[in-house]
Amino acid sequence: MRLNPFNASNINVRSSGGGRIPGGKAGGLGCGTIVLAALGYFVFGLDPMQTAGTIESVQQGSQQAGPATTDAQIVCSASEYATEACNALDSLNSTWGRTFEEQGFAANFRQPVLHLFSAGVSTECGSGSSAMGPFYCPADETIYIDTSFYDELARMANNSGDFARYYVLAHEYGHHIQTLTGVSGQIRSAQQQSPGDSNALQVLMELQADCYAGVWAGKNRNLIEPGDIEEGMQAASAIGDDRLTGGRVSEENFTHGTSQQRSQALRFGMQGDDRACDAITRVG
Ligand SMILES: [Zn+2]
Repeated sequence: MRLNPFNASNINVRSSGGGRIPGGKAGGLGCGTIVLAALGYFVFGLDPMQTAGTIESVQQGSQQAGPATTDAQIVCSASEYATEACNALDSLNSTWGRTFEEQGFAANFRQPVLHLFSAGVSTECGSGSSAMGPFYCPADETIYIDTSFYDELARMANNSGDFARYYVLAHEYGHHIQTLTGVSGQIRSAQQQSPGDSNALQVLMELQADCYAGVWAGKNRNLIEPGDIEEGMQAASAIGDDRLTGGRVSEENFTHGTSQQRSQALRFGMQGDDRACDAITRVG
């Protein structure tokens, strides 16, 4: 995708380094917690609100490094991945800002912060770690990414295309949109009212975020290069719950949807506008 170079004044970014305390490892954790954390590594968008307990406990062995850098030029020039992420963030801000405006909700739009970290990070949703993969924290409206995840993604999806990386960021941005529209709050209360449907509801939320990622790509069609869509679809299918768990987890325990559902949601968003994605979470 040929994204325009970011304009530092259009984006809110920060970065912080991190380091593991020597010998630090998650101590005294049950096997289930470790499995869940490992799964999170491959399933971006692990919801920190839901898994805060897990994050906290897994983070025992990590530390947070010094204060965050907030100068966009410095943050975005740190690596090629950082620059790419800043370009995508600028594009997402302008696409979604315009969309809210067109629909008469300009006052409801706020840009999220993009926080690039390594190893560990502390957030309003609890401590986060690289092992969780990229995630969005609604409490501080921030997307957290350790860019080393992108190398992992390239291995998993068996490609190193830029569009796969944009898709990850656009998916997390989708969770920000859900926060702005109130959908995440509605899903959260539906989950509390009917805990048995909690996973199914979480899947709907994830698929809607995939759909929103597709909406952004669809609205920037002119920047898409041959092969981009295939990269996105490949990434979407590489990170579906069925592929990640290798069939070891039954479908009712999925929280992100199957590979097929995910790539369908992405494609669906690309064809429609964001209102088409709203139907995904219209439940009951
Ligand atoms: Zn997600």
